[in-house]
Amino acid sequence: MNLVAQTQTLLRNLSWHLDFPLVGPRKVIFLLTNRCPLRCVMCWTHEADLHNELPLSSWEKAVDSLPQLGVHEIMFSGGEVLLRKDDVVALVDRACHLGIRTSVITSGWKTTPTVMQELYDAGLNVMMNSIDGPNAEIHDGIRKRPGSFDSVIASMDMVAEIRGRPRPHIRDPLLRNDFAYGTMSVIMDQNCHMLTDIYDVSASHGAQFICFQAVTNDEKNQKNKVQTENLPVLREQIEKLIAIKKTGGPIAVTDTFLRSIPQYFEDPASLLTDVQCMAGFNDFIINAQGHVSTCFGDIKDPDVTGILNTEVDVAKLWRMAPMNETRARMRTCENPCFVACWTNG
Ligand code: SF4
Ligand code: SF4
Repeated sequence: MNLVAQTQTLLRNLSWHLDFPLVGPRKVIFLLTNRCPLRCVMCWTHEADLHNELPLSSWEKAVDSLPQLGVHEIMFSGGEVLLRKDDVVALVDRACHLGIRTSVITSGWKTTPTVMQELYDAGLNVMMNSIDGPNAEIHDGIRKRPGSFDSVIASMDMVAEIRGRPRPHIRDPLLRNDFAYGTMSVIMDQNCHMLTDIYDVSASHGAQFICFQAVTNDEKNQKNKVQTENLPVLREQIEKLIAIKKTGGPIAVTDTFLRSIPQYFEDPASLLTDVQCMAGFNDFIINAQGHVSTCFGDIKDPDVTGILNTEVDVAKLWRMAPMNETRARMRTCENPCFVACWTNG
């Protein structure tokens, strides 16, 4: 870690104690839409507002406001963010001109070779496909839509095909030569016995980094969390993943993170002795209407009265009083959701 990054981490830790951000977020996540053609069993995005979305011009303002906050990374997500593919391409291009790294996470349902090429040419730095099963039976069962497994595999192959192509038109050499593609898989009861198979599929389709996370610990997901009788098989799978990692497999989460996943499913609160949740200081999520999305619900700028925050000012949202009140609640959270808890680890 270089000196700047070390200083930022120190300031974020101090911010955590103060419930006030002394520096900007590490990364901003823009949820461009709640719409999605899939209906994954662990996702409730489709129950959110599907009709009101910020126009491209508002997202452009949001991107433009990031350099003054010291933000160097944006993730575009949803819903299925590629339902707004032209807007994503435009925003990646805009961010690239400002020297900001960008990533996209997609189910692969809307990926086409043309979209992939446009994103790549615009300066995209990271493409992530989400894959939750090693075959159509498991993956489509979780996604609740036949054909979703074939879509994500096709999407992975499109990214693998394109990476490495020269893009001399990108002025910033750091962004020009920075491109990686990976996968993200959510561990749940339905796939906990097939994690190494998911790894194999991702690796065999060229993924350069392979991530895992655990399904969220909310009330609706109790049926999807790994059940007690399946914890032994989960532990076995986790140890196999760690063994793969030791031989150089591109698993992009730490051994400690992986080994904590069974503990999380067994007794989430027991993690509180080991970790501090940095969710209010590391990553900042702006929802499709331009408000802040947190695990304690959406937070609005008190000055905004309408459904849409069209003048979305990320710096103002980051520092507003209701956000700081929520940071204090996060700091004393007693029901850890695992992923965010570990963002500092
Ligand atoms: S693909 Fe993503 S947004 Fe769509 S239903 Fe699944 S988890 Fe939710
Ligand atoms: S650990 Fe608690 S406060 Fe932190 S992100 Fe998860 S639910 Fe939110």
